[in-house]
Amino acid sequence: MSDEAEHNVVARLRQVRSEVERAVRHARRSPDEVTLIAVSKTYFADSILPVLEKGQRVFGENRVQESMQKWPELKAQFPDVELHLIGPLQSNKAKEAVALFDVIETVDRPSIAEALAKEFSKTERRPKLYVQVNTGEEPQKAGILPLEADAFLTRCKEEWKLPIEGLMCIPPVDEPPSPHFGLLRKIAESHGIKTLSMGMSADFEEAIQMGATHIRVGSAIFGHRG
Ligand SMILES: *Cc1c(COP(=O)(O)O)cnc(C)c1O
Repeated sequence: MSDEAEHNVVARLRQVRSEVERAVRHARRSPDEVTLIAVSKTYFADSILPVLEKGQRVFGENRVQESMQKWPELKAQFPDVELHLIGPLQSNKAKEAVALFDVIETVDRPSIAEALAKEFSKTERRPKLYVQVNTGEEPQKAGILPLEADAFLTRCKEEWKLPIEGLMCIPPVDEPPSPHFGLLRKIAESHGIKTLSMGMSADFEEAIQMGATHIRVGSAIFGHRG
């Protein structure tokens, strides 16, 4: 990475941090209630390192395979990194995902819950689990439908003994995001769930206003993905 590119990543990180701070203040919330997840998908270690060196420790990736190529080495250098899986998980990758990730945000169907429960029976590792909700009911998008969320959350707890710590959503690109954030929050509240992963580069301010505890910001930090 050139000095200039590195300088840009660091400048954008600083900018995002200050915008997050402002949004938190505006929402009359406390800074420790909102965690910035730097979404480093498609970026190599040379882009990620300067962000690690500025103290960022929570990262998001959307592919298990890609993460296995870059994160074991980075985690060895920065053992306190917390890595979130924010992309779809296939059952046949459950073992690798449980071994590498600290949080799996995309539990979205019974087969995945079963695969994770099976993996938990074989290993001591316990990544935190969030359920992804398809708040916009978009056919092409992953996530449990809002109307099925109650039953699925109950099954996670009772049938698969999986502690679900949070909920995650990705609102439709062509709609105002706040109603989707509100719906996610409502489902979470009715299950006593306190963690809400919502908001990306374009809408993290609204998400913070609506109660996000985790925002997933990629391009605003790393630049546009090629
Ligand atoms: C890529 C991605 C993000 C980050 O998106 P930006 O618009 O680049 O901030 C957040 N969440 C998920 C699930 C993603 O796949």
